[in-house]
Amino acid sequence: MSSFSVPPMRSASEDLPGPLMREGAEGDIQGALERALREGKRYTKTGKVATYIPELSKANPEHIGACIKTLTGETYHCGDWQEPFTIQSISKTISLTLALQTAGYDMLFSKVGLEPTGDSFNSIVKLETKTPHPLNPMINAGAIATASCIPGDDPFELYMELAKRVCLNDDLSLNHDVYLSEKLAGMRNRSMAYWMKSENIIEGDPEEALDLYFRMCSVNVTAEDLANWGMVLANDGVDPTSGTRLVESWIVRIVKTFMVTCGMYDGSGEFAVKVGIPSKSGVGGGILSAVEGRMGIGVFNPSLDRKGNSIGGMRLLEDLSKSLRLHYFAGKQQ
Ligand code: GLU
Repeated sequence: MSSFSVPPMRSASEDLPGPLMREGAEGDIQGALERALREGKRYTKTGKVATYIPELSKANPEHIGACIKTLTGETYHCGDWQEPFTIQSISKTISLTLALQTAGYDMLFSKVGLEPTGDSFNSIVKLETKTPHPLNPMINAGAIATASCIPGDDPFELYMELAKRVCLNDDLSLNHDVYLSEKLAGMRNRSMAYWMKSENIIEGDPEEALDLYFRMCSVNVTAEDLANWGMVLANDGVDPTSGTRLVESWIVRIVKTFMVTCGMYDGSGEFAVKVGIPSKSGVGGGILSAVEGRMGIGVFNPSLDRKGNSIGGMRLLEDLSKSLRLHYFAGKQQ
């Protein structure tokens, strides 16, 4: 049995958010977003697009944009907010959700741990030197093990259904070129999957787990899609517009907690201090952020730092967090 219990469904009115904390919220948010975009833009030349997946090297490092969806129904956007990019590691928030819904808490966490690693997202080292259980579901090894736990004849179909539901976008689709590129180039991920097979962490065929993982990473999204998912997470799993619960509350709590502790790879600690918003990044340049009870934010800039996080995206979020006081420990005064 899981140590978490699923609470009863809440009514839409109980899920309505409190007022936004800012005075004159609308004008302030759009202005703050545009300022933050200018700040992010200053850094886009300092990073590099991912090249280890050849198809990702075609991205334009100067693309930058963001979208905000508030729980009170407003949308704000700036820059390249409608530019599609692959979700990459941000898929780990959705595959974790799906594994918890289908395999369950006990099964999943008998295979994958709950601790941050301090290592890079694609590190293999601790699988041998520390424990064969990948340390958490937000690193590649943990996400491949998570994928192997999802039951059913067509787990990718289940994943797509869930991704469309939580991103509030029925048009999400696979980017075939990125998927094939990643499948060809993914030798490091393949090594980890076979290592985990040898240690009985992966029970089925490692190639199947890998194929599912590569597909999940290769779905095209926009900043708006991520803002929608962030908004649902910020509202405890309920779509604030329809009042429909999309994800169970106990799962939302787990996903957001991992976003805080491990969502920005081995940069999660610094990001927590400087930005303080549960977030998950991907090497496609996206960042998903959920400001508890207030808003979802989707950010895109494919120029990455050495840890694989979007440089312009992080600067944009840092600026926005300061001006709108979004840090989870913002306190009452600046
Ligand atoms: N598909 C990428 C990989 O496996 C995801 C990495 C990421 O976005 O962190 O390397």
